[in-house]
Amino acid sequence: IIEHGQPEHSVLTTCAYCGVGCSFKADMQGDRVVRMTPYKDGQANHGHSCVKGRFAWGYASHRERVLEPMIRESIDEPWRKVSWDEAIGYAATRLRGIQEKYGRKSVGGITSSRCTNEEVFVVQKLVRAAFGNNNVDTCARVCHSPTGYGLNQTLGTSAGTQPFDSVMDADVIVIIGANPTVAHPVFASQMKRRLREGAKLIIIDPRRIDLVRSPHVQADYHLPLLPGTNVPVINALAHVIVSEGLVDQDYVAQRCDPDSFAAWKACVLKEENSPEAVAKISGVAADDIRSAARLYATAGRGAIYYGLGVTEHSQGSTMVMGMANLAMATGNIGFSGCGVNPLRGQNNVQGSCDMGSFPHELAGYRPVSDDAVRGSFEKRWGVELDPVPGYRIPNMFDAAIAGEYKGMYIQGEDIAQSDPNTQHVEAALLAMDCVVVQDLFLNETAKFAHVFLPGTSFLEKDGTFINAERRINRVRPVMKPQQGKAEWLITQELSQALGYDMHYASEAEIMDEIAALTPTFQGVSFDFLDRYGSVQWPCNEKAPLGTPIMHIDQFVRGKGLFIETDYVPTEERSNRKFPLLLTTGRILSQYNVGAQTRRTENIVWYHEDLLEIHPHDAETRGIQDGDQVSLRSRKGEITLRATITERVQPGVVYTTFHNPETGANVVTTEYSDWATSCPEYKVTAVQVAPAARR
Ligand code: SF4
Repeated sequence: IIEHGQPEHSVLTTCAYCGVGCSFKADMQGDRVVRMTPYKDGQANHGHSCVKGRFAWGYASHRERVLEPMIRESIDEPWRKVSWDEAIGYAATRLRGIQEKYGRKSVGGITSSRCTNEEVFVVQKLVRAAFGNNNVDTCARVCHSPTGYGLNQTLGTSAGTQPFDSVMDADVIVIIGANPTVAHPVFASQMKRRLREGAKLIIIDPRRIDLVRSPHVQADYHLPLLPGTNVPVINALAHVIVSEGLVDQDYVAQRCDPDSFAAWKACVLKEENSPEAVAKISGVAADDIRSAARLYATAGRGAIYYGLGVTEHSQGSTMVMGMANLAMATGNIGFSGCGVNPLRGQNNVQGSCDMGSFPHELAGYRPVSDDAVRGSFEKRWGVELDPVPGYRIPNMFDAAIAGEYKGMYIQGEDIAQSDPNTQHVEAALLAMDCVVVQDLFLNETAKFAHVFLPGTSFLEKDGTFINAERRINRVRPVMKPQQGKAEWLITQELSQALGYDMHYASEAEIMDEIAALTPTFQGVSFDFLDRYGSVQWPCNEKAPLGTPIMHIDQFVRGKGLFIETDYVPTEERSNRKFPLLLTTGRILSQYNVGAQTRRTENIVWYHEDLLEIHPHDAETRGIQDGDQVSLRSRKGEITLRATITERVQPGVVYTTFHNPETGANVVTTEYSDWATSCPEYKVTAVQVAPAARR
């Protein structure tokens, strides 16, 4: 499937799938890509790649791609193809009309973690400067927003602490709620190299992921906790470390806030956090908790890597802080081989958060309510900004159903498929007077749209992505925008039609403005990146060549702040009617809701979303391997095929969410993280029965 002809020239760019951010040479024949070759000098991938980056780029020229703008009065009408001017003018008129009728705050926008920093920055500017409110949020809301909150509270910055290469100095690696071999394969390979050299491995995950036992790697401890019990398990690990005198006292005394440490210590020493007590809640053997805690605290350099199995919970932010507490208590932040490291799902989750996509923060995570911060943006943008934070994505849906939020500009996210509780999302979209979707394909959300503005693939973009290690990578266009317009230009023209002109002439100018307004990006420009390849922020006067490792001499916030992490069980409980707990994940060849990978050569590796069920649970329900089963929660019901496996423990079932026909999010709930509203995708009480028995 890779034979497309011999290349004539190459363009160096960045993979647009996961947060590893691999560099590739797009090998070209004229203006046609014939091959993606992993770049040997890529600072995140060192010449490696996975099947997504290597083969899954054909969606850029897929026949279903929409290349002309379209409008319609109502969603019952057929789409009408129109010129760019008409589509943008129509969107502006409808959105402005809504604001005149329902008020300035009745519209907003969503930025995409699939888009470049420059595209994202322009969308949040559109909302703030042209709409005149802070109703902007990012699709990172539904994945890593607890990372931003938790790491900022404890350490002082909303990002991971280490470069990927740091794992080669780790003596013990802790993987929590992540499945790197399928979701971050290139980094997983690097991790495996270190494990083969002798580093120890602890895995905390409800499911037996590949790294628990693979041909060359075996975990020293797998703590197969029940979904929803991350916080008690991290507290129990801390309980052991404190009660057995394994705290790095010198580090804590020098680097951390003493009062917060004392309070945290008292919290984790409570009897309810003892391994025996937590074993009853989590299902993890007390002895394994003790042994894993001792290993992490005493093996040398301990590195924590985590994913959405941490964040997508009602206590996602609490768990992020729990991991930061543990790392500080054992002196595991501030040098190579350690740290607390989010494995970001999408290519530009870090960047979309950095760019000011949150309703309470401007670029660089600075509060919009802060007069001085807001003032610097007002001066540059020549407009007065609203100091009041706007709606988060779930609040947008609630406000729409309440009749207070009537218009939305959605950049590159399929909220009708990817957000939880699909019925609620659809009801919100139906309640709006104008939905503008900017995307490659007529996705599920576009069914509710009045304006469709065709977007560009990464092969047509000029700009930057930021990977999970804060690395700002260049994305270079290998072909012209196939629909005729760069995405930032679409947003800029919409802004102009609404009466606010941004005056950018190029993507490089947008980055120059980001650098001028954001202290952590001060030294970044396209010229700089072209000269040095990439750079890890902060990149400024103090760190002109970037900052691979954070918090070296002191934490960004000064003293590291311990935060008490009391366990509050999720409202989503199993019971007699819904006795099993569903959790979700991915397969290697596919990506998220599959909008791109299902339209590429990777389709050869794809079959369908399957329900993994333990043999005991299958037998008691009369389910045979391969049977169609009904999966039902309090929110909805779907049908899919069962696969019987001991990868899941009794009482837990698991599926992927790559296929709109399966619609896994029909069953997920409205519960969310207490601090950030990140949805609780990872815990849903369900019943499973043979489909015919319904
Ligand atoms: Fe792309 Fe991630 Fe695979 Fe690298 S590991 S090629 S960034 S999907």
